[in-house]
Amino acid sequence: MNRLTTDVLIIGGGAAGMSSALSAAKTGADVTLLEREPIAGGVLNQCIHNGFGLQFYHEELTGPEFASRLQREMSEEGVSMIGESYVRHIDVREKKAVVLSPKGAFEISAKALVISSGARERPFGSLLIQGYRPSGILPAGLAQRYVNLENYLPGKRAVVLGSGDIGLIMARRLTLEGVEVVAVIERMPYPGGLTRNIVQCLEDYDIPLLLSTTVTKVFGKGRLEEVEITKVDERFVPIPGTSSRLKVDTLILSAGLLPQVEDFDDDLTIDPINRGFVVSNTGESSVEGVFAAGNNVAVFDLVDYVAAEGWIAGRHAALYALGKNTSGDRVPVVRGDNVGVVVPGIVDMDEHVRLYVRLKNPMDKGTLVLKELGLEKSFSYGVPSEMIQMVIKKEKLMPLIDAKRLTVEVH
Ligand SMILES: Cc1cc2nc3c(=O)[nH]c(=O)nc-3n(C[C@H](O)[C@H](O)[C@H](O)COP(=O)(O)OP(=O)(O)OC[C@H]3O[C@@H](n4cnc5c(N)ncnc54)[C@H](O)[C@@H]3O)c2cc1C
Repeated sequence: MNRLTTDVLIIGGGAAGMSSALSAAKTGADVTLLEREPIAGGVLNQCIHNGFGLQFYHEELTGPEFASRLQREMSEEGVSMIGESYVRHIDVREKKAVVLSPKGAFEISAKALVISSGARERPFGSLLIQGYRPSGILPAGLAQRYVNLENYLPGKRAVVLGSGDIGLIMARRLTLEGVEVVAVIERMPYPGGLTRNIVQCLEDYDIPLLLSTTVTKVFGKGRLEEVEITKVDERFVPIPGTSSRLKVDTLILSAGLLPQVEDFDDDLTIDPINRGFVVSNTGESSVEGVFAAGNNVAVFDLVDYVAAEGWIAGRHAALYALGKNTSGDRVPVVRGDNVGVVVPGIVDMDEHVRLYVRLKNPMDKGTLVLKELGLEKSFSYGVPSEMIQMVIKKEKLMPLIDAKRLTVEVH
């Protein structure tokens, strides 16, 4: 088996991995990026709509434009990107990876690792919908790949289950390609995606959004023929007598993303609510010298956040690999009232903190409070789908030394 070495090994070449690779190379490290697809870019390559890059590049770009900029910058900085390389196993203590590729298996060892493996879609089987498993039922990201990259249409008449951003964007995309999108179905009493996507993807195309409703049954053996939709109560239990049927040949599932941690989680701590790797504000995981960034830490709503976090993780991974690590005292971040997803999970006092919070429930008006620091940020309307972000300069972190924790709560 071939054996390679590098200073910083990046696993996964989406926005997080490419941005990590670029910043690690700019910090002076020798960098290798492994990506299972032939080219880097990750999910950006199939997101041909615009709305990317406003914060990272201060321009509105499409996904492929954002990806190709990072690809070009990586190659100018001398990052060695190896495509068609599937990382099968990582030994986080030894910082070694076993990789499968069409040219054969190889092993690569590094001084520091950045894991940036993204997220995967929640599958049909986890949704407990009755009926056979006919063709025509597919996750939204896969449908997007078929339509945008492979030039296939998944069907003629569709219903979308889940009003997260991917579902909303696919409702519009399918409509533009001539598919009749009958409705978007959402079990929550409020939409799951960004407000701008509700307006631009549904309202502008007259696609109905049915709230507090779910798909309870699918009909058809070879191919999907109909779905049964039913109203649900506040605990998502179907309400008897409220079912109706929709004649569709396609059911698009947009039931959320799950951080992709399975291949790598043996030795790394996972946050039970984020469902991704616990990292500090330097991107370092629970194992020294092993960093993680992007949607495998928590599902972020904007690629700009993912790229910014990748940048920080890449720089710190390079400093670690070059023996210039400057990590400071560390304290845990603790969730208070109405806080769901929160990143980071640990505060390193030697780096500024970029804090990301998702509310547990929507609020008309609220204040994000960092208890031990006496800092606050008010917002006029908040929903779980839109992350609240707050930057705290490292000079303001001193009170945490005595407090030994940072409590994040929303009032
Ligand atoms: C449909 C959709 C629409 C979106 N719209 C917007 C938008 O309008 N604006 C916006 O800002 N954001 C948007 N986003 C969000 C944004 O695109 C993502 O948050 C971001 O691109 C995720 O980057 P990532 O690097 O974490 O993950 P990914 O892009 O998923 O990259 C992970 C990479 O790791 C590779 N990988 C995984 N496991 C392995 C392994 N074992 N070995 C080798 N390689 C591996 C994968 O092949 C992949 O290339 C959208 C996302 C989706 C899905």
